[in-house]
Amino acid sequence: MREGEVRIYVCGLTPSAQAHLGHARSFLFFDVLRRYLAHRGCRVTYVQNVTDIDDRSIKAGIETGRDYHAIVEHFYAEFKESMRKLGIFEYDFEPYATQYIGEIQQMIRELVEGGHAYVTRDGIYYRVSTFQNYGRLANRNVADLEAGARIEVDENKEDPLDFALWKFAKPGEPRWPFEPFGDGRPGWHIECSAMARALLDPPGAGFDIHGGGADLIFPHHENEIAQSEALMARPPMANFWVHGGLLLFDNRKMAKSLGNFEPLIDLLQRHDPQAIRWLFLQTGYRKVMNFTEDSIAAAALGLSKIKSAYRLAAARQNGEAPAQGSPFDEQMEAALDDDMNTAAALAVLYEFAATAPLERLRYWLTILGVEPNDSWVAEPVVELTREFVDRLQAALDDEGVDGAAGKIGNLEPNEAIDRVIAMRAEARREKDWAASDRLRDALQRCGIELHDTKEGTTWSVVG
Ligand SMILES: [Zn+2]
Repeated sequence: MREGEVRIYVCGLTPSAQAHLGHARSFLFFDVLRRYLAHRGCRVTYVQNVTDIDDRSIKAGIETGRDYHAIVEHFYAEFKESMRKLGIFEYDFEPYATQYIGEIQQMIRELVEGGHAYVTRDGIYYRVSTFQNYGRLANRNVADLEAGARIEVDENKEDPLDFALWKFAKPGEPRWPFEPFGDGRPGWHIECSAMARALLDPPGAGFDIHGGGADLIFPHHENEIAQSEALMARPPMANFWVHGGLLLFDNRKMAKSLGNFEPLIDLLQRHDPQAIRWLFLQTGYRKVMNFTEDSIAAAALGLSKIKSAYRLAAARQNGEAPAQGSPFDEQMEAALDDDMNTAAALAVLYEFAATAPLERLRYWLTILGVEPNDSWVAEPVVELTREFVDRLQAALDDEGVDGAAGKIGNLEPNEAIDRVIAMRAEARREKDWAASDRLRDALQRCGIELHDTKEGTTWSVVG
């Protein structure tokens, strides 16, 4: 590790189809990690690759008569649009595998020369038996892995665990010349090894953090290690491996074949991207997580409480000096130093939101990637129409709220809400908790949630 510098490689998208929220989860985590490392004074170099050639995009190209790369570019542009909506920082390097064919071929040459790879009729394969630590990342031994490997009839391979570094071209497939072996294209695993080496590890000393989703541990990351470390004077390839947990949807994987597939770009139309971030922050990056419509609604509600507190902080702000090194800062750092415990960090935010200076609140929200914007301090965005006032009046009548004050039909929507809050404050002063609850319930039924703080009562819109 170079002093004050953190070099990160994260396996990126294979854009041969639309991305879904499961893809976004680990990228969102690494975005927060980058922001926090920068807060800790590290200079971060972040590489996230694009697997812009694979079996699926080639097949789609052949089937539709389109160029496979046009398909990839289309889906990748859509993915980047989603990343922008989620507030993810641009990457320092965004290498496309097809732009690193020379580096990939160089690495394959070295592996062949070193006896770590062999040439067959259909391609060049990595010889797993030459790498002693194979299986260590996945914490499994070679015998177990071999027993678990799908037994394919493949007379080309010496061992079922061996994997392709280079696939010789079949008719109609994209191809690159590779002397003296033969035209073809790279396998997926070698792409990452070669791009990481080219961008982060020129002297063969490895880099700091390698990341990706937990589903990449085996075989992808195991194979990357085997390829890279076989050629390194001083392993390891990466000092830390960081894997994001799996995301389930109503307790199932999301897949077209299961009928529960929703493209990320569509989901971001239905839900506030900041609420999605909040949901992931609540869980912590390693855990398997189950996404439901209820869970995102709950996250949106949690975030709305922070927004209310932020609005209040903005209103009371009068040039107070930001207090750095306060208990708020210390507790945020303690939470995130603890293996990026973002759930604990949110608990600290809730605790301090009502009292922290606006600037510190804004600072920490930004570190978590939930940057306050103009809409946070504007009046809550809601369609407070005449129809809303009628509904609120009906709810009050329904709850049995009577008296002249309870007649709000001729007020503007915001005035009507303020009137009900004032009535509730009066009821609370008189310790008439039942009346207070009725008023709160009437607002709740119209989608207005109240938040009581030391500074007074604020409201936000839910649902
Ligand atoms: Zn990779």
